[in-house]
Amino acid sequence: MVNQKDFFQNGDLFKIKLGEISIEGISMAGICTHISVPELKICFDVGYSHPKLASHKFYFITHGHMDHAAGIPYLVSNKALNKQKPPRFYMPKSMIQPMNSILSLWAKMEGHDYKWNFLEMEKEGVWINPHYQVVSFKTFHRVESQGYLLRSFKEKLKSQYRDLDAKKIAELKNNGVEIQEKIFSPLLAVTGDTKIEFLTENPELYNVKYLLVECTYATDVKSIESCREWGHIHFDELLVHLPKFKGEKIILKHFSRRHTYQEILKVLDEKCPPELREKVLILPW
Ligand SMILES: [Zn+2]
Ligand SMILES: [Zn+2]
Repeated sequence: MVNQKDFFQNGDLFKIKLGEISIEGISMAGICTHISVPELKICFDVGYSHPKLASHKFYFITHGHMDHAAGIPYLVSNKALNKQKPPRFYMPKSMIQPMNSILSLWAKMEGHDYKWNFLEMEKEGVWINPHYQVVSFKTFHRVESQGYLLRSFKEKLKSQYRDLDAKKIAELKNNGVEIQEKIFSPLLAVTGDTKIEFLTENPELYNVKYLLVECTYATDVKSIESCREWGHIHFDELLVHLPKFKGEKIILKHFSRRHTYQEILKVLDEKCPPELREKVLILPW
């Protein structure tokens, strides 16, 4: 099982291996948030962009605040410059029209004919490849927002057919019998900025293997009420949900500049019940 010490610094980003995938990124409240899964060439939010994001294929944007989305025009331009296909950005519906206007104006200003795709999330999810899919879930911020869930997918022979020989199975298949079952496993959930209600409204997230969640404050420097007013999470609110979390790790990100990394580690040691402490990691910054 991974631990806090398994995070390593890769240039100005932080990376950790989480079984079959890794996450790499940076997250600081009000400054910059982007989290990539390099193996799948996808990222969640783009901050003010980063050279490493330009090679990705899919971009999933949580909401339109600058610290999460300002890099979109830059990435569109960068893709065009490198003669890559127009990028696909999935985003909350209310962002699409303003972002189209911003890009049109910027293209005009540059005298360049950019191409891009700003898309609403597809209800049935977006397939990254035949083994991974991303679906969205509702989050609660000051503007329309959504989180994303990466699920792994495999097909398995239904249990009632497992003892049959190959000939019998081929026969069933030829007769049009559905012998495979589809198995989706919730692997990684990423929230953007949100109030704690995202958990109670999406209880399936208690079962996700890795939950990467916004947590902007963790001490008395900000009250829970004030955090909520700005559409954010205080660690004390997450604490009460920890015992219900069945996954491997909750990874906190998007801390305020009023906190330091060392301070948050200490706060977690003090506040988490010992048996739950190892469930919680922090994305360093
Ligand atoms: Zn933010
Ligand atoms: Zn925000």
